[in-house]
Amino acid sequence: MRVYNFAAGPSTLPLEVLKQAQEEFLDFAGTGMSVTEISHRDKAYGAVVTEAEALVRELLKVPDDYAVIFVQGGASQQFAAVPLNLMHSGKADYIVTGNFAKKAWEEGKIYGQANKIGDSSDKVYTYIPDIDKLTYTEGADYLHITSNNTIFGTRYPEFPKCKAPLVADMSSEIFSREINVADFGVIYAGAQKNLAPAGVTIVIAKRALIQDPLPICPTMLKWKVQDENGSLYNTPPAFSIYMANLVLRNLKAKGGVKAMNEADEYKAALLYDFIDNSKLYKNNVVKKFRSIMNVPFVTGSEELDAKFVAEAKKAGLVSLKGHRLVGGMRASIYNAMPVEGVKALIDFMKKFERENG
Ligand SMILES: *Cc1c(COP(=O)(O)O)cnc(C)c1O
Repeated sequence: MRVYNFAAGPSTLPLEVLKQAQEEFLDFAGTGMSVTEISHRDKAYGAVVTEAEALVRELLKVPDDYAVIFVQGGASQQFAAVPLNLMHSGKADYIVTGNFAKKAWEEGKIYGQANKIGDSSDKVYTYIPDIDKLTYTEGADYLHITSNNTIFGTRYPEFPKCKAPLVADMSSEIFSREINVADFGVIYAGAQKNLAPAGVTIVIAKRALIQDPLPICPTMLKWKVQDENGSLYNTPPAFSIYMANLVLRNLKAKGGVKAMNEADEYKAALLYDFIDNSKLYKNNVVKKFRSIMNVPFVTGSEELDAKFVAEAKKAGLVSLKGHRLVGGMRASIYNAMPVEGVKALIDFMKKFERENG
């Protein structure tokens, strides 16, 4: 039996995609080989990378002067790639809105002066600092933000406007809302939250910004090199890119990012409304900063939280345990989570509240 999987990442993927992958697993595109066995220099595989890139461009309306590349090492590797490609004057700004944002900032400090100009740790990252009241560093090479904070369940309702190029880690929300790519210098996202299995990270970068990586930047982390080689500088994470391509096709067939956003907003509203109107459950995030992808909630009793997670699992609702930094529960309701899954969760929450409230 397939369960409803609320894991934060790796996370649930569209069932249609999993079935298609299963169907063509032994014979990919008439090659008589699995996509995991074929050379990445084979034409049939090259077509996958080309199509995936084209779909990212189409679905996010990426301007032509931006590179779209697929790389390895996860979003965490990009924490280093960002300064290594961009930190020419040796200083950059960071807004620390969660654990991953903090890690990105700490990685930035290895390579230069990484200024933390905003920080919401005083209230356990339950809000996003006021972007109009921050002091941006004059001459900074970039400003780094984490657009959706996976662990704490917050997102930027709008993005900072500053002179320095904006770099955004969108790992846990890419393709869930429309964005204007031209407002960003660089966007990156590990695929295993909202797009594909782990193993591939998408980088979208304004080409003019990435022509001159720092001399110490490893070749593999040079976005320019990856761009010039069409993401095939070395052996790519072939299966993950193939799966990403299937998910992107699926997303396009479902109406693209706008349609997906409407579905995601709807699912999130159902869950937040229920939580806000219940006596047992509470979400501590300031309302206007609530994520539509990751919804943490607590009962107020650690014992009850543990019971909730265990009983939910028995009811086919899995991976609801909150991150160890927050405790309680977290429902990650990414693009691939059907509305039926959210409704099943709410029904379970009602029942649990009746029995334990
Ligand atoms: C999961 C996540 C990461 C880390 O991704 P890895 O691919 O495991 O390195 C970084 N940033 C955000 C926002 C995430 O959600």
